Amino acid sequence: MKIAKDKVVSIHYTLKNDAGSIIDSSEQAEPLVYLHGAQNIIPGLEHALEGKVADDALEVSIEAVDAYGEYKKELTEVVPSSMFEGVESIEVGMEFQAETEAGTQVIRIAAVDGDDVTVDGNHPLAGERLHFDVAIAEVREASADELEHGHVHSAGCHH
Ligand code: ZN
Repeated sequence: MKIAKDKVVSIHYTLKNDAGSIIDSSEQAEPLVYLHGAQNIIPGLEHALEGKVADDALEVSIEAVDAYGEYKKELTEVVPSSMFEGVESIEVGMEFQAETEAGTQVIRIAAVDGDDVTVDGNHPLAGERLHFDVAIAEVREASADELEHGHVHSAGCHH
């Protein structure tokens, strides 16, 4: 069965950044299972997998624009530390959920300078060219429920 819209695809992958460091990998873990054509994964990877079958392997490099997007300076902002009331110590790398016009968004603390806290709403991998090593484990039809919900249901998933 070929990977196409509305198929459920299981892949093992290793993700490296441009410098060759491993950022993420499904080795030693469960494969990543996603619904193809439902924007469950980054567009560049979904495009590269189109038409492949189980047991195929591929290496693909994906530009930032087809991965987690370009880094947008306008998503950073300097805010007063008083906005983090109740947080004992504000440290670089901490993540918070923020309500924005675009919905709930994860923001990271990018810098702390006295009372000035720089927050960054970019995805941690924004602006990065990514390199995937992918092995396709399984391709199956999606169930009617999965198609309706736009995501994969694993065994024991209730909703
Ligand atoms: Zn669901």
